[in-house]
Amino acid sequence: MESKKFLLQEKDIPTAWYNIVADMENKPLPPLDPATRQPLNPEALYPLLAEKLVQQEINMTDQWIEIPDEVRNLYKQWRPTPLVRANGLEKALDTPAHIYFKNESVSPVGSHKLNSALAQAYYCKQDGLTNITTETGAGQWGAAMAYAARAFGLELAVYMVKISYEQKPYRRSIMQTFGAQVIASPSMSTKAGRKILTENPTYMGSLGTAISEAVELALQTPNCKYVLGSVLNHVMLHQTVIGLEAEKQMEMAGEYPDVIVACFGGGSNFSGISFPFLRHNIKDGKTARIIAAEPSSCPKLTRGIFQYDFGDEVGYTPFIPMYTLGHTFAPPHIHAGGLRYHGAGSIVSQLKKDNLIEATDIKQLDAFKAAVLFANTESIIPAPESSHAIAAVIKEAEQAKIEGKQKTILFNLSGHGLIDMAAYDSYFAGDLLNYEMTDADLAKSIDTLEQII
Ligand SMILES: *Cc1c(COP(=O)(O)O)cnc(C)c1O
Repeated sequence: MESKKFLLQEKDIPTAWYNIVADMENKPLPPLDPATRQPLNPEALYPLLAEKLVQQEINMTDQWIEIPDEVRNLYKQWRPTPLVRANGLEKALDTPAHIYFKNESVSPVGSHKLNSALAQAYYCKQDGLTNITTETGAGQWGAAMAYAARAFGLELAVYMVKISYEQKPYRRSIMQTFGAQVIASPSMSTKAGRKILTENPTYMGSLGTAISEAVELALQTPNCKYVLGSVLNHVMLHQTVIGLEAEKQMEMAGEYPDVIVACFGGGSNFSGISFPFLRHNIKDGKTARIIAAEPSSCPKLTRGIFQYDFGDEVGYTPFIPMYTLGHTFAPPHIHAGGLRYHGAGSIVSQLKKDNLIEATDIKQLDAFKAAVLFANTESIIPAPESSHAIAAVIKEAEQAKIEGKQKTILFNLSGHGLIDMAAYDSYFAGDLLNYEMTDADLAKSIDTLEQII
């Protein structure tokens, strides 16, 4: 348990986010207007998203985008976050690998999500808005957004995936503590929700449905826009503070990562930790392997197809170029709610297509087994999402042992699991299953996709 920490000071918080698109040889394909099938005019997004965020979304030229002082000052409440050498875990695995993790669980809401939530609330306030809407799966994004909305004096309505609303009541309580209104999705309050409930009255919801509802409410409410916690380019951008800090901390440790791992829902914490290092792969000839750990039950990067698809279930968003399981894919109700999303962001999808990153899939029971080992060796109870990264790291460390080779592994601990103990309870009770998707299951939703490219 004598794990060593590498700590930075307030002045070391990055002053700019890193925009990897500027350095990509093959840029992500543009989003398409579903009506015309032509590249979307960015101004078409202004009714939905804060203007500054749309500009960040489409910025392909500026490597560095300055972090506003107001946002950077709020980051100081918990940033810089620690980098930790996982000595305890290394010892338990008896591996020659050196394992480091960036601890994003120390934020006031317990996950990395606040890095983007504060930035998005700031730009919404700048746009003169009074209200914002969003969706949340397991509740981490909603909690972060509720905190950020409060910080900038905005009213927030959150559509929360119904299964999580019922399984994770305490995240709902956190959102309510910060003054947000929380609605279980699918709900009868929107056309999208009513349509889904009419077809399937017992549907327990998905991120895609909740997005449809939040978008619909934003478009119908004056002075109101929508914010999203993953998938979009500007979210990946804001999260790069994670990797930029980690870069300095790895230097303090006197090492450079050979392997970088993060769990993967829509890609924000993965992008956050990895893009600053991928920059050196692209520009300086470094060769770090970068691995996304996704759940076997929702395997968009390992088994999905690269295709234009909707970001939501009903089809309100533009067509986004992505690795997808099809927007109608309803993932099994695994406990890592934050990883239950049918697609991947367009930057990460392009990087995967160009083989600049890798992906691996992790079974639910392996994730929890890894979580318990991590808790007992590093004294932090990880979020079920983050546990997928830990399981992937353990595989790498075991491989290093077999090969008898030292390698340096860095992973992102995207959040703690203290509000997910019901999931741990189910695991200890033996109630959790592994969900393997059959090819037929996958084909069912993928085959409904229209061929656009
Ligand atoms: C939301 C969430 C994720 C998954 O989202 P990404 O955008 O893929 O990072 C992972 N871990 C935690 C703790 C989360 O809250």
